[in-house]
Amino acid sequence: LPTGAGAATAPAPVTVLAGPTAVGKGTVSAAIRARYPQIWLSVSATTRAPRPGEVDGVHYRFVGEEEFSRLIEDGQMLEWAVVHGRNKYGTPRGPVEEKVAEGRPVLLEIDLAGARQVRESLPEARFVFLAPPDWDTLVQRLVGRGTEDEEERERRLATARVELAAEDEFDVTIVNDSVDRAADELARLLGVNDLT
Ligand code: 5GP
Repeated sequence: LPTGAGAATAPAPVTVLAGPTAVGKGTVSAAIRARYPQIWLSVSATTRAPRPGEVDGVHYRFVGEEEFSRLIEDGQMLEWAVVHGRNKYGTPRGPVEEKVAEGRPVLLEIDLAGARQVRESLPEARFVFLAPPDWDTLVQRLVGRGTEDEEERERRLATARVELAAEDEFDVTIVNDSVDRAADELARLLGVNDLT
């Protein structure tokens, strides 16, 4: 088995983080970005408009419909999906392959449909399900963040019910009872801790 310096050059596995709407995937990813720069967080392409504070190339690569279609046609998307029936999101393949070749731990934060595609195209990837502590907490988070109107919330909660049932498809479940704790657990799974 590779140890020491050898371990750093061995190809690192790709880890996929998925879970229901409002469970806190984005927050946990942000905590990973801030605390564990060793972990490379894939930058998704999306057709949605940037929110205040989001930086092109950091949080997402913001592209138009035409460019998104071109990326798919050129075979440059590892996976892609229409999320919440609205915008398209996808993982550009090239950067993921580059970082894997460099031996960096790679994290993809994507929706369930995307995770299922990665299972097909990259079966050696590890699949982590981020779960809420309980249903009421999930509802409270969705209401609390106040970014959706009532109708949209209802739609997302209906989706979340279905998505929660997908936990069995995953290799590991992390309960998001605290963002920092969940981020630490995820980092350890990726072979990274505060001292590395
Ligand atoms: P938001 O618009 O709030 O940033 O993200 C909405 C949803 O899109 C989240 O559930 C997130 O997991 C999902 N998402 C973000 N990037 C990707 C991606 O590259 N592929 C897929 N399939 N879903 C993504």
